[in-house]
Amino acid sequence: MSRSKSVLTQLLQIFPQWRPQMYFKASLTALSHAMEDQVLAGSEEPLVIASFQRERFYRQEAQRYRRIAQKSNQVYVLAAPETDFKHRSGDYEAVAFDCEDTLTQEWHLIVLGKSYSSCLICQEKITAQTKAITTAMDNNRRFEGIWTFDRQVTEQAANILLKTILDYRPELEEKIQKARDQYKLPNQFKGDTPQQKDIDNTTWDVTNNNPDPFVQRLVTYLQAGQYKLIKANRSLADKEHKERLINSVTTAIRLSLDPDEILQIAVQKLGEGLGVCRCLVYRCKETDPTATIEHEFLNEGIHSIKGQTWPLRHNPLFQEVVELRDALTIDNAINDPRVIKGKEETTSSEQSLQILVNRCSILSWMLVPIFYRGRLLGMLELHHCGPKPITWKEEDVALVNAIATQIGVALIQAEAYANLQDLNEQLEALDRTRSNLVAITGHELRTPLSTIQVCLESLASEPDMSPELRQVMLNTALQDAERMRKLVQDFLTLSQLESGRVEWNIEALNLHECVELSLSNVRARHKDTQLPDIENLVKEELPLVKADGEWLVEVLAKLLDNACKFTSEEGKITIEVSSHSRNHIEVTVADTGRGIEPKRLETVFDRFYQEEGALRRSTGGTGLGLAICRQIVRGWGGKIWAESQGKDHGSQFHFTVPIYLDQIPTQPSNQSIARSYRSKQKARGKRRK
Ligand code: ADP
Repeated sequence: MSRSKSVLTQLLQIFPQWRPQMYFKASLTALSHAMEDQVLAGSEEPLVIASFQRERFYRQEAQRYRRIAQKSNQVYVLAAPETDFKHRSGDYEAVAFDCEDTLTQEWHLIVLGKSYSSCLICQEKITAQTKAITTAMDNNRRFEGIWTFDRQVTEQAANILLKTILDYRPELEEKIQKARDQYKLPNQFKGDTPQQKDIDNTTWDVTNNNPDPFVQRLVTYLQAGQYKLIKANRSLADKEHKERLINSVTTAIRLSLDPDEILQIAVQKLGEGLGVCRCLVYRCKETDPTATIEHEFLNEGIHSIKGQTWPLRHNPLFQEVVELRDALTIDNAINDPRVIKGKEETTSSEQSLQILVNRCSILSWMLVPIFYRGRLLGMLELHHCGPKPITWKEEDVALVNAIATQIGVALIQAEAYANLQDLNEQLEALDRTRSNLVAITGHELRTPLSTIQVCLESLASEPDMSPELRQVMLNTALQDAERMRKLVQDFLTLSQLESGRVEWNIEALNLHECVELSLSNVRARHKDTQLPDIENLVKEELPLVKADGEWLVEVLAKLLDNACKFTSEEGKITIEVSSHSRNHIEVTVADTGRGIEPKRLETVFDRFYQEEGALRRSTGGTGLGLAICRQIVRGWGGKIWAESQGKDHGSQFHFTVPIYLDQIPTQPSNQSIARSYRSKQKARGKRRK
């Protein structure tokens, strides 16, 4: 409870024509010091009453007041006690007023001498803003009040304060009465507040009582300077806050190379820094129809929209941002023409925007695109959900824009890092493959080469060798030379396919004819051996397929070759097709041969994989056939895989070929495919020699 009424209010009741002025603390300190200096420099014994808000303010001036007390025995110092300030009669009279007293919000200094008088009666203006900056900028505390040399005002102010002093320290009555007499103060008022009628002279000519115009100007100048300083301080503090925010976001996101972490940190810091209701970020491209809200920051009481699908193509605001390539702000979504339109002209996209605004309680909205070198990477959105709309400031938009730029850079860095990691892994894999390949190829070539060398050396060093043995030696050398040739040829074909240096000649093909052609090749190749029964179940009237004829025949021939190699004469081989899709046909080459163990069904497609190992090979293959088939089938966008019930249960090799959907062309004849196949084979053979 406050014990006394505001001195300023009481004084203004007596002098209603006086208008209080605004003072900063720095100005009041200067004025107070000037008034105190006047006492210290003068020869009079004035009445001095100083009321400090708190003991700590008084303590800074205690030394001064001890000196002032040497000049006069009518000195009164008032303050709210904090440590050891209490009622005391010493050098001067100390009055410790209640901590609840209105005086704690006021600053007074009264100097009343015989030939001069001055008073400073002020009240602190406490607003939420000043409270926030009080500790940081004490000198910017604001006061409102009267500072004057007017004797009558000074006398009335002295009277009011002496009455308060008497309330706190009644034992000083005699001393105070002395002061009244000495300084010819008007009589003490009966009521709490002096009334207009109590004042002798009720007409005050304020202009005549003005202090020296120079002093007045000085004060105005001081005040203006102080005001400018405050403004500059505030804008500096604002800038500093924003710079700190950008720095902290930048530093935090630079620490990570994980895009999700980067985005989460960015929304969190931005949301906290700007104190918005909701801050979200999502990744998107300009052409995306929708986006998923991946990361959000929420202020208390705001509902989450994380995981929701956000409209982009049918969102006029998103489209506007993409077109402008700049941020967009809406202060009040409730009456923004982009969101609200007349019913007749509302399109479905605008309706969906209204639904979005209502569903997410968006009142004020900011959309800031995240671009990197003109490429849209995502969008930052700030939502203010009420109760009242806010006006987005230009500097806020600039700040979010700056953060969006940083996010863009961080995302690209993360992307580049991920690509680099991928590339590294690929390179490592490639390096491993290359080393393996060199080792395996070397080994594969050395084996037949050693045989050839041994045969030729024997022939050269033993002229007496029997003609039969000589023939055996020659045949063995020739066989291994042929194996080497095949190996080199397959190896070159595979590397050509793997490096993408193949020119595909895609055409409409009759599958039945391709199977027949590959069968005749296989039969020609195995003309000296008894082959198992082979049945072509592929119908002639099937839809045409879309592939390169030469390579399609090659795949079929290789699969049939394998089936012949791994199936005994008594076994059976069938070629059939099935269709599980409108787009492609599945071709199956099945045999009743030795089968494949389930765990090897994928490995058989590896380069140089042979179940019996290269050295113990009896079938004469290179171990590259299935690897080549996989590359060819992938070339037309198909798949190839093996199935088998295990050892001695036969195998089935399946692959898919696209159906020729566009039109029905004149069917290429068997001969034309055969001609093209042979001429290409020849050309390839020549190139490899
Ligand atoms: P190769 O030239 O050795 O036949 P491939 O790549 O064509 O090389 O085949 C790799 C391995 O896959 C063969 O060595 C064999 O072990 C196995 N394989 C391929 N086709 C069949 C099949 N029809 N039946 C059983 N095993 C097969």
